Amino acid sequence: LNMLEYKLKERGKYFVKVGKWYPSSQICHCCGSVKKFDLKDRVYTCDCGYIGDRDHNAAINILTEGLRILQSL
Ligand SMILES: [Zn+2]
Repeated sequence: LNMLEYKLKERGKYFVKVGKWYPSSQICHCCGSVKKFDLKDRVYTCDCGYIGDRDHNAAINILTEGLRILQSL
């Protein structure tokens, strides 16, 4: 991570760390609702109608949280 941060800074990019306990896999990226999610399930389904790959949903949440942190700096 230190090397990544260094390389990004060198190129004028941002390095933002999302909290270790941020529940990226439990939040629906569409509606924001949070639910307990069994990590053995590969597909995230939500009452709002969203159905998608668990990791893709989590990645979107991490991006959103990173941008939120960046804007608060
Ligand atoms: Zn939802």
